[in-house]
Amino acid sequence: MQKPKLLLLTSLSFLAYVLNAAKDERPNILFIFTDDHALNALSAYGGPLAKLAPTPHLDRIAKEGMLFRHCLVSNSICAPSRAVILTGKHSHLNGQRTNKDTFDGSQQTVSKLLQRAGYQTAIVGKWHLKSTPTGFHHFEVLKGQGQYYNPLLFTNGEMVKHTGYTTDIITDQALKWIDQRDQNKPFFLMAQHKAPHGRWEPALRHLKTFEDVQIPEPPTLFDDYSGRSEAPANHKMGIAEHIGPSRLMLRYSSKFTPEQYKIFDGHFRPLNEAMQKLDLKGKKLTRWNYQRYIKNYLRCVKAVDENIGRMLDYLDENGLSKNTVVIYSSDQGFWLGEHGWFDKRWMYEESLHTPLLVRWTGRTKPGSTNTDLVSNLDFAQTFLDIAGAPQPKDMQGRSLLPILHGKTPEDWRKTHYYHYYEAGGHGVPIHFGVTDGRYKLIRFPDEKLNTWEFFDLKVDPQEMKSRLNAPKYSKIIAGLKKELTRLRKHYQVED
Ligand code: CA
Repeated sequence: MQKPKLLLLTSLSFLAYVLNAAKDERPNILFIFTDDHALNALSAYGGPLAKLAPTPHLDRIAKEGMLFRHCLVSNSICAPSRAVILTGKHSHLNGQRTNKDTFDGSQQTVSKLLQRAGYQTAIVGKWHLKSTPTGFHHFEVLKGQGQYYNPLLFTNGEMVKHTGYTTDIITDQALKWIDQRDQNKPFFLMAQHKAPHGRWEPALRHLKTFEDVQIPEPPTLFDDYSGRSEAPANHKMGIAEHIGPSRLMLRYSSKFTPEQYKIFDGHFRPLNEAMQKLDLKGKKLTRWNYQRYIKNYLRCVKAVDENIGRMLDYLDENGLSKNTVVIYSSDQGFWLGEHGWFDKRWMYEESLHTPLLVRWTGRTKPGSTNTDLVSNLDFAQTFLDIAGAPQPKDMQGRSLLPILHGKTPEDWRKTHYYHYYEAGGHGVPIHFGVTDGRYKLIRFPDEKLNTWEFFDLKVDPQEMKSRLNAPKYSKIIAGLKKELTRLRKHYQVED
């Protein structure tokens, strides 16, 4: 009588063995990505706003993982940065030099390579590369820049309308996809927010956040651009004169529902009317613009931070925290009033740096900080290395895995190459350059400018004075020029 029962048990354990053997235990990769998130608006970086506008959930990733202090982008502008991350190649090789280009989705991308390696791949949120996403089993992406309220999500070929705040909805949809995935395979999910890209429309729950606070002004808010080349003085990204009504909530961009509009407009309209009565001019107007801008920006970051909390909780509650590498980054940094600016694009510090936080439980040392020169150029190869997949030779970055394990290879890069191509966007000319973390050399090749700038960040961290002609730096500048030539050759830059 015992025999059939034993047989049944044996069959069940065999089935369990087969199922277990079929389960692929390679780590999941959750890449949480935002648009235009400045280091100075992420409290783990300890900037001047850290106490006033904390980001506790983002800080949790840093506390439980590694914070990279010098993650430098190769081209500080939205779509090109995304293309660099997908391809592991500089803009001139992946073809996405500016926001105006259309991404060639037929080329090799990290999502395709991870698919081939047996990963389930998905992208939810902001795509911004014009062409239809390729290399993803599931895509659910905003149309163009998208809007902060009631987004349309292009979902596997169908346009789907959602009602609510976009930062919340992107998280909802990303978690839904994780929930419905094949649990026997590891996943690669790019959860990509529109926030905190302009025009900064806060969630209804945050309209009054920071209301009674005066945000400290950066010391360079009234920069006169003396001491440098003509390039920065020709900008069109001034909080004083270029920011415009839509970026200040004097006009709205989203298509609200009547209920949302009542609350949103009910908040801003009386404030706007009171401001208009004041008839502010000059520095007083710049100061008002700055407060309006920075508060709405920080309110948008607040919603991002809350949603990161939701994602981390979800991983905890579903037993996924241990085997999921959580990577947080943004497409570039941003000006929060430094040099009088909003926007990005320049090779100067605040837009060159992008946040990078990585939590890999059991691998990265909790609360560790890295100061090597790393880049968004390294992300693709890092994802592949985490998955144990081969890294194609034509990728131009380097896997961060040894660094995540606490050991920087001895031959890690000592210099970083930068190249911005979108001539004239916000008045920023084409420029390229090199930095070793302390010294920075920038070339403006435009015929009218045809000039260079050189900074010593140790004595001038805010980059207020180009020391191009100071004799004491002549050897260093000559060395950097040589290094720039070497890097351009190494990366196959032709233009
Ligand atoms: Ca961006």
